[in-house]
Amino acid sequence: MKKLVCAGEILVEIMAERIGQGFLAPGPLVGPFPSGAPAIFIDQAARLGQPAGLIAAVGDDDFGHLNIERLRADGADISAIKVHRGAATGTAFVTYETDGSRHFVYNIKQSAAGLIEIGTEARALLASADHFHVMGTSLFSPETIAVARAGIEAVKARGGTVSFDPNIREEMLDLPGLREALHFVLSKTDLFLPSGPELFIFAKATDEEGAVREMLQRGISTVVVKKGGQGAVHFDRAGRTVSPGFVVDEIDPTGAGDCFAAAFVSFWLRGATPEKALRIANGCGALAVTKKGPMEGIAFLAAVEAFIETAETGEAA
Ligand code: ATP
Ligand code: MG
Repeated sequence: MKKLVCAGEILVEIMAERIGQGFLAPGPLVGPFPSGAPAIFIDQAARLGQPAGLIAAVGDDDFGHLNIERLRADGADISAIKVHRGAATGTAFVTYETDGSRHFVYNIKQSAAGLIEIGTEARALLASADHFHVMGTSLFSPETIAVARAGIEAVKARGGTVSFDPNIREEMLDLPGLREALHFVLSKTDLFLPSGPELFIFAKATDEEGAVREMLQRGISTVVVKKGGQGAVHFDRAGRTVSPGFVVDEIDPTGAGDCFAAAFVSFWLRGATPEKALRIANGCGALAVTKKGPMEGIAFLAAVEAFIETAETGEAA
């Protein structure tokens, strides 16, 4: 089976317990939960049985070890996760506003996550990789951008493929070097997985079909647009495939996009049809939102298949 590799931040997430609870006053918190988009992605891929490894950095602290142990237990290759004695593992404190939006306090760039590099272990992991996945959230410094470039180049040199989930908030676009990095990544992308408005960051067109056409003209072979509870739409030269989401009670949406992407990429690498890959990915995304904590809803393949058998689908996008 093809091996996929991702590089980027490992974090713990700590959540306000109550909706609308700000961080300007003390209040009850729950966590730490293992997190970080690349870690969520790799953990989901591993639980689906895909060979998957993560290039990352944590501190020599409980938050770091909590993440490493979760990834190890789920079968991920953790050989390129570096433990730094003098640094602390990254954190994200999150609170949900009454309108459903999220508000974060991050410590990522100044944490161990900012110390990620291509060392001996990362080089060895890349030498065994068939596919590299890039997360926009991980391109937050010149050093992390260099790691993504090195990953892309190593895998492409071996004849492998690249997928890209932009996963960025508008305010990140002004980070130094980010726009250039995004364009470089896009120029190497085979499989593009934007959600909603992210499709338009790189396109002149303002309608979905037009923006997708531009992406395909750039040489990207497959575009999958994630649509939350409505599922996802797949585009390639053969046409358009719509797949509705599954009906679930949404408890915590964080991580759904990463679980969806991991599942889609894994089944795409296995040569599955778009219908099959979308169905599994929608199943993983739906299960992800049913649990509090970004990695708590990650399911094994058998559980995803059992869920899909009985779950109801909603309206397609
Ligand atoms: P993230 O917030 O993790 O970055 P995203 O914006 O990248 O998420 P979404 O479109 O929100 O991605 O979710 C990804 C996938 O997860 C959807 O395509 C769908 O399959 C599933 N999903 C998300 N929310 C729900 C929901 N409320 N009900 C059912 N499925 C969902
Ligand atoms: Mg996303």
